[in-house]
Amino acid sequence: MPTSALVLFSGGQDSTTCLAWALARFERVETVGFDYGQRHAAELAARPRILAVMRTMADGSRLGQDQLLPLDTLKAIGGSALTDDVAIAMGESGLPTTFVPGRNVMFLTAAAALGYRRGIDDLVGGMCETDFSGYPDCRNDTIKATARALSLGLARDIRIHTPLMWIDKAATWQLAEELGGPALVDLIVEETVTCYQGDRTHRHAWGYGCGSCPACELRAAGFARFRTS
Ligand code: ZN
Repeated sequence: MPTSALVLFSGGQDSTTCLAWALARFERVETVGFDYGQRHAAELAARPRILAVMRTMADGSRLGQDQLLPLDTLKAIGGSALTDDVAIAMGESGLPTTFVPGRNVMFLTAAAALGYRRGIDDLVGGMCETDFSGYPDCRNDTIKATARALSLGLARDIRIHTPLMWIDKAATWQLAEELGGPALVDLIVEETVTCYQGDRTHRHAWGYGCGSCPACELRAAGFARFRTS
């Protein structure tokens, strides 16, 4: 088994679950986050709080360095509801305006480069094809092809693990419970930010959020199915 992994950790529900997944499998786990000029800083602000609690949980001693990398190229390009004052709606391309073109490919490229420096070839990301909003860079084919390109470009065997790829949001909550019990579910409810509006004022059973953006709706529906299953 490879000894170290680098988790793409945004401070959201999915990447927090992926972090717990990695801590259960790798002897050493480092984290990387990206400041790409997202409109709402709530997710980035949640990162250190979540990491502090994770260090106290099972396998928390495996948690190593965390790094926040600037990728403000995405903000400079702009045009997305996540980087600019653009309404969340279905765009002309058939993709929601929350799509940030190239984001995951850039994230994975930057993570692989950091991993290269840190001697880590195993990357872990929360990309998911099941509940996805139509984002083409969340597809398994995109991730596999990116791993291939990065392996060639770095002359290393880069592996990209996506434990959420084929499960829905209810199963993501379930996975968190299996990995870390009620304490991890509580941490995800209390601290992780999924909301596209970055809302930290409205508290629901499933956590904080505006309750009406597509990300909140997915999270709420998944939580409801998780609690009734
Ligand atoms: Zn929301």
